[in-house]
This record gives sequence, structure tokens and C-alpha cells, in this order.
Amino acid sequence: MSTVILVTGGTGLVGKAIEYVIENEPAGSRFGKRPNEKWIFASSSEGDLRLNRLILFRDPEQTRKLYEKYQPTHVIHLAALVGGLFKNMKYKLTFLRDNILINDNILHSSYQHKTQKLVSCLSTCVFPDKVEYPLTELNIHNGPPHESNFGYAHAKRMVDVQNHAYKEEFGCNFTSAIPTNVFGPHDNYDLEDSHVIPGLIHKCYLAKKNNTPFVVSGTGKPLRQFIYSRDLAKLFIWQLREYDDVRAFGEDEEVSIKEVADAIVKAVGFQGSYTFDTSRADGQYRKPASNKKLLSLIGDFKFTPFEEALDESVKWFLENYDAARI
Ligand code: NDP
Repeated sequence: MSTVILVTGGTGLVGKAIEYVIENEPAGSRFGKRPNEKWIFASSSEGDLRLNRLILFRDPEQTRKLYEKYQPTHVIHLAALVGGLFKNMKYKLTFLRDNILINDNILHSSYQHKTQKLVSCLSTCVFPDKVEYPLTELNIHNGPPHESNFGYAHAKRMVDVQNHAYKEEFGCNFTSAIPTNVFGPHDNYDLEDSHVIPGLIHKCYLAKKNNTPFVVSGTGKPLRQFIYSRDLAKLFIWQLREYDDVRAFGEDEEVSIKEVADAIVKAVGFQGSYTFDTSRADGQYRKPASNKKLLSLIGDFKFTPFEEALDESVKWFLENYDAARI
């Protein structure tokens, strides 16, 4: 019997990485394409093209039509309204409502179409603001999220609640992954609205091009965990094929913002003045997540070394500047 895998949000940072891994790993290997599999990478304009962009999965009827068209047996659900701090703070209700609608439509369509397995995507930034570290999947609901992303966080937390309820009431095989910060090719490099790595890559590129200083916001001291999108892609493929529970996905290794900026300066080949604007807020000093259980289960898995992953991301950005989201 053939397996039809629908990847919602298939045109985004993570979706493109899954497509890359499926196409580039040896066919039939642990992460490569298998002979009985058909992969569909959906974008927001897959449905009725007369509708506005970004509407697809907010509309139950459009979602239903897409499920009828492809009849997915498996779904990796990545589609989401995603944004940086500023956008999250400004549009709390939009982040809450759009993501609740998208998730509810995907989960319910998966139930109605008897999808055999659904893996959704949460994020470590939906964890409580005041929480015990390291983060594990057990403390997602132990307190309110940080005020800045409260809409996004509550909508994402509901996926975990819904997964449990669908499993208990209808026996659905619905689960989720919880990635740390993701970076890689096809990222959002918008200067106002991006995550820290793509934002700094773009800033450093402009500093080199315009011969201006490269100024990094904050002290550079906070520590963060990053995962390369192509490593995360492999973990999603593993979870879809081999594992049914919820797991935190990321690297245990913490990297300071200064180490990130140093690696970007090197990868971009920037030789001008490079400083930290310490008048800008740093955010939390560290918020580590634990990937112990994940590593004990997946067996032999090697994360791409940070500098190598960053080099590949910068190379992609430089080669695709005109087509990138900037
Ligand atoms: P992107 O912003 O790169 O991609 C979002 C994807 O969702 C795009 O394919 C977009 O389609 C699609 N989409 C958005 N709205 C709709 C809609 N209404 N109907 C149909 N499709 C829609 O996101 P990422 O790849 O970065 O994120 C993927 C998942 O990973 C998300 O669930 C996110 O919450 C999660 N995540 C991301 C992290 C990160 O650091 N980036 C960290 C942790 C979790 P189109 O291209 O057509 O607009």
C-alpha cells in the first residue's frame, strides 16, 4: 500500500529542509525516500487560488478539499503564522486565532480522513516564562508563557492538548515535536521580523556591502540552542516513521549570541568594525531544553557542527539573495 505524506507549510524553512533531505539522502535509507512513498509539500496557495494568500488552512472547507485531493495517510504539520518578537507583540490576537484555526482544521481533517499518523510542530518558545530548566515536554503547561508571544504560545500549546484528546477519545495517532530555534536555507531574512541568526546574517551582509559597522543588539552573552533545519528535517522523518511520542528536538549544546555573531562574521567574510549595542535588551540569559530522551531513542544520530551549518546557510543566502525572504 502506498504512503502519501502531506507536509503542510512545505514551502517554509523547515518544509524546504524536509524536501531537501528526502530528495538528497540515498533512496531507501533511514532518511531518504522510500519506494512506496509519495511526498506532497503544500504551500498556503495550494487551495483555491482565488482566495487570499495565507488563507488555506484557516478555512475548514479549503482544508477539507486539500485532504480529498491528496488523501494523505501521514501528515507533518508545519504550517503556522510564524514571526519574530515585534510581530508577535503587535499581533497577539492574530497569532492566537490564525494558529488555532490552522491547527484545528488540520487536526480535525486528519481525524475525519483517518490519517494514520500526524506529527505537528510546537516550539520551545511556547514553554512557561517561569519554569524549571532544562525544558522537557512534561512542563509545557506549568505556567503562563512569556507575555511577548502569548498568542502564538497558547495556540501551539493547544495542539498538545488536542493531540491527547484525539488520542484518548478516538485513538488517533497524533503527536508533536518541540524544536529549539531553527536556522538554515530558505529562512526568513527580513531585518525587522526575523529570528536572530537570519537577521544577523542579513545585517552582516549589508555591513560588508555598504562598508558600515556590524552592530549586534545586546551584550552577546545570552546562550541559546539552535538546530540546523536539515538536522531537524531528519528528526521529523524519523518521528514520522519510527516514533509516536512527543519529544524536544534540538542540540544540547548552547551557543552564545557572540559565538553566533563571530561565526557569521567569518562566514560572510566581513572585515569591518564589529560591535555590541549593550543598550539593547538581551532577553533571558539561557533557556535550555533537554534532548536526552530523543538521543537515547534515535540511536546513531549526528548533528551538523554549528559552524558548518552556518556556513551552508550563509552560502545559500548569498547565492539566493534576490529570491530570499528579505
Ligand atoms: P515559515 O514561516 O518558514 O513557513 C511557514 C509555512 O506555513 C509556509 O509554507 C507558509 O506557506 C505556510 N502557511 C502559513 N500560513 C498558512 C495558511 N493559512 N495556510 C496554509 N499554509 C500556511 O516557518 P518555519 O518553517 O520556520 O516553521 C515551521 C514550523 O516550525 C512552524 O509550525 C513553527 O511554529 C515551528 N517552529 C519554527 C521555529 C523557527 O525557529 N523557525 C522554531 C520552533 C518551531 P507560504 O510559503 O505559501 O506562505
